[in-house]
Amino acid sequence: MKTIGLIGGMSWESTVPYYTILNEEVKKALGGYHSAKILLYSVDFDEIEKDQVAGNWEHMGETLGNIARTLQDAGADAIVLCTNTMHKVAPQIESKISVPFLHIADATAEAIQEKGMKRVALLGTRYTMSEGFYRDRLTCNGLEVQVPNEQEQSTIHRVIFEELVLGILRDESRNELLAIIDRLANDGAQCIILGCTEIGMLVKQEDTDVMLFDTVEMHAKKAARFMLDNEKKA
Ligand code: GLU
Repeated sequence: MKTIGLIGGMSWESTVPYYTILNEEVKKALGGYHSAKILLYSVDFDEIEKDQVAGNWEHMGETLGNIARTLQDAGADAIVLCTNTMHKVAPQIESKISVPFLHIADATAEAIQEKGMKRVALLGTRYTMSEGFYRDRLTCNGLEVQVPNEQEQSTIHRVIFEELVLGILRDESRNELLAIIDRLANDGAQCIILGCTEIGMLVKQEDTDVMLFDTVEMHAKKAARFMLDNEKKA
């Protein structure tokens, strides 16, 4: 089994399911006493959030790149960044390491294509929904990407930063997100990407008939396949 290096803490609640899924997948594949070989570097999200608001992406790229390097030097065979938004600095991270960087959008796009779907709607932070770094990666993977309108983006971004990253789950916010999901599906989206690692804590598949793809699950499962050498392509 290979060792996976996780960069987590953005937010910490959403790093927990990565640990769980990786161990569950390894146990499912190998059985017995087997569990996942994981190196975790968990950051202080307060520092990241301040840098995001200030637009200090270069500094964050430098910081996360150094962390990835630390994990590689400690024995990680691949790096997994446990947040969608911070994939904005994926190129800086990749430039610091020689082991594979398992991109969250690639993992998600592969899972959607396996289900034969193409037209997706993307929910996430305002950075993820409104900028090109994530949408373009999905498009390059053959998907057609729809994003929420301006007002819906404000609602989703507010729920993420004022509630979810603080571990607050409110029924009212779940209903707001479900209304947005319905609107996007009525507008032609075949499925919804939960492109923020906290959204799956609030909105579950059983809450809606629209098919949801939780990026945490897709990403962690791809990492497990990599560890177990079951990956179709690198
Ligand atoms: N975890 C979130 C994401 O997947 C948002 C927090 C952050 O800004 O990193 O995008």
